[in-house]
Amino acid sequence: MHISLFFTGHWALSVLLQSLFQHRYAAHRMYAMGPKTERSLHLLTALVQGSSYLEPRAYALLHREHHAFADTEKDPHSPAHHGNPARMMLATARRYAAFVTRREHPEARFLGGYPEWPAVDRAFGRWPSRIGFGALYTLFYWRFATRRWQYLLLPLHYVMGPMHGAIVNWCGHRYGYRNFRTRDESRNSLPVDALCMGELFQNNHHARPANPDFASRRFELDPTWQVMRLLARLKLIRLAHVPCGRDMEVAQQSLPTPARALPSARPGPSPSPGHIGSKRRGSAAASKGVPASWPHSRTASGSPATPASLGTIAASRWTSCWTTWMPASRRGTTPAR
Ligand SMILES: [Zn+2]
Ligand SMILES: [Zn+2]
Repeated sequence: MHISLFFTGHWALSVLLQSLFQHRYAAHRMYAMGPKTERSLHLLTALVQGSSYLEPRAYALLHREHHAFADTEKDPHSPAHHGNPARMMLATARRYAAFVTRREHPEARFLGGYPEWPAVDRAFGRWPSRIGFGALYTLFYWRFATRRWQYLLLPLHYVMGPMHGAIVNWCGHRYGYRNFRTRDESRNSLPVDALCMGELFQNNHHARPANPDFASRRFELDPTWQVMRLLARLKLIRLAHVPCGRDMEVAQQSLPTPARALPSARPGPSPSPGHIGSKRRGSAAASKGVPASWPHSRTASGSPATPASLGTIAASRWTSCWTTWMPASRRGTTPAR
């Protein structure tokens, strides 16, 4: 009983915080929060992920590369270019370590906008801390395990964070159904993704990467989005965007005219507080000081997005999908049905 509770709790909280903090906040800036809340969430993430804590900066850089180069040879973790999940995890770990130690440098467009707390990132990212957390997990099992087979679960605690990443990146680009025709191999692996807290809606997320709700069909459920809604209601975070419609067909019918992206672009990748998605939403959100999310809604050239350049993704009511770091050749997305 103790072991199942510990394993389930560690799994659920670890993947929830990876989705909420490292993915949706550090990599995409889907919401804003005050400095104290940010520090609290940063520390909570480090404590929960423990032996497998992932530094938000390195995570964000890897993830932005993944969106920009999804399923090409430059994708840091694509099942299309790695023989098995272990190889993919190893390649990802190497690139992650190179970003942590700053041995390798990403393209400038991927830099900026992620939370950095060097004291915490250093303390929790070093081997003594990782081994210490591993020892605590082992002690818990030694005290509460009632069957020998339960020890088979122990190694999973040690690598919980990277393992979640591997499940999402492997299954989310290999198994499942597609709602959108994207230029990558992304899939939605589960209609109700309680296993990875919404992260397995990869096809929806790649098609509409700034949408905070990863679900797009009525039968889909994204648990992390529900947590974000609750945090926003409690005024702990401010959402950068309202989500687009949950059903694409309804959204298509309700779209009056193709929406336009922001009329001008500022060069460089750094986030611009108050600058968000669509022009219509931008002014209201800007007055509340919400952040720019990644990707921003503007064309790479800085010109207004035309209906043609927006493509059929405009039909999903989510118009803020273009980004300065997403190559034009990879922006085409259309509903698959
Ligand atoms: Zn993906
Ligand atoms: Zn993403």
